[in-house]
Amino acid sequence: MAGNWKMYKTPAETTAFFQKFRPLVENSGHCEIVVCPAFLSLAAAVEAAKGSTIRVGAQNVAWAKEGAFTGEVSGPMIRAAGATHVIVGHSERRQYFGETDQTVLKRTQAALESGLAPIVCVGECLEDRERDRTEAVLERQFLQGIAGLTEHRFANIAIAYEPVWAIGTGKTATPEIAADAHRAIRAQAAAKYGKTAGGSLRILYGGSVKPDNVQSLMAQPEIDGVLVGGASLDPVSFASIVNF
Ligand code: PEP
Repeated sequence: MAGNWKMYKTPAETTAFFQKFRPLVENSGHCEIVVCPAFLSLAAAVEAAKGSTIRVGAQNVAWAKEGAFTGEVSGPMIRAAGATHVIVGHSERRQYFGETDQTVLKRTQAALESGLAPIVCVGECLEDRERDRTEAVLERQFLQGIAGLTEHRFANIAIAYEPVWAIGTGKTATPEIAADAHRAIRAQAAAKYGKTAGGSLRILYGGSVKPDNVQSLMAQPEIDGVLVGGASLDPVSFASIVNF
């Protein structure tokens, strides 16, 4: 169960979140919890999560370890801050910051080289869905991006299926729509990396997940977890998603 805080919460607000959130998820041994704050709040989150099973992730990672890349933050820097995970290729990065399938692959490789666990995002926009191109888009994102990983590296990523039309819109994909997309992604993974790798790939659903719809989504065997944006900002709401 992963929370993407996007560009919200200062370090002080991060600490305050954890004070409320930790006791609410103390007995959540059924799942892994990852909170992904903005870069500047990573250290505060790591400090506040110390002694708990909650993991901290970044929301992006540079494709190089260091160098002349103004504004970027590298995998070793993220690791040094104490984070263990990173979101790669979020649709907001693809839409507003020119992220492509190729840069998503490069960032994913860099994350793995730094020992970070990447959560790689894929998903179609509304026009693609309306034109019945969802599977074609997912296939392109997979083949031109993720499929560049070696089999060994592929075993260490999770994929988040996040239909762009469902992110921050209040429009959740129905559990059936989400499960169909997850099946398509798993089939692509199995075709490229074999049945076992496809079967053990973890696929999260993201897009307007809330406390009142998480149960029906998680009831789908194809959905292994969720990536939550807006509803992860409030400790009570994110805890009730975690404890669905
Ligand atoms: C996200 O940012 O990854 C996301 C799914 O956002 P929201 O839950 O707000 O739709």
